[in-house]
Amino acid sequence: MLEFFKDQPEILAVMSERRDGSMKLLQNSDLNLENRKNFFQKINLIGSKIVSAEIVHGKAVEIVNGKSPELIFGADGLVTKDKKVFLTVTVADCIPVYFWEPAQKIVAVVHCGWRGILSGVIENALVKIVALGGQPEKLKVALGPGLNACHFEIKEDVLGEFSKHPEAISNRGGKIFVDLKSILRKQLLALGVEIQSITSDNTCIFENENYFSFRRDKPATVEAMVAIIGLK
Ligand SMILES: [Zn+2]
Repeated sequence: MLEFFKDQPEILAVMSERRDGSMKLLQNSDLNLENRKNFFQKINLIGSKIVSAEIVHGKAVEIVNGKSPELIFGADGLVTKDKKVFLTVTVADCIPVYFWEPAQKIVAVVHCGWRGILSGVIENALVKIVALGGQPEKLKVALGPGLNACHFEIKEDVLGEFSKHPEAISNRGGKIFVDLKSILRKQLLALGVEIQSITSDNTCIFENENYFSFRRDKPATVEAMVAIIGLK
């Protein structure tokens, strides 16, 4: 299991690994629920409120609390100020982005695939954090592992979507690659997050068998890790 913000005793921020099993929530299926239960038990969350985002590769980020439903449809990110409300997203190539605002005690986690990143999911997360009283300059942000520029290849047909981010594009051997984390950093800085407050796990999950990678494994059903954050 990966841990983020280890020096922050008020919060728990973790990500599962392949050995924990797939954590993907599937429609009309109990598959993976046992894996999730076991993992939540491993990190001592049994009995705690757990609120999960559906994950639709969109830009919706929702504020939740202790009374929210356990599954927030249409969302790719969640924000809360409530203690003992643990927020989850699932990732399998996409980047989990964790937010912690220690002054107002706000946490958030966002699933960041390229579509969400380009459509404004990070901006929406900041809007919701600010709505709860948070300040961008006080935010600490952790970028979890994802597909790095070495393995995030795009085809010509979507290249135009990245027109605002030419610095993130590279060409190798006739193929086009994108550095999504450089776009994330640029967006966070533009929204007022301070550069020294952004940390990153630079593992490329395509290259690391400890993680599921959809592009590498090409499973029939998506296999994913779960990313969780919450105030203890
Ligand atoms: Zn790679």
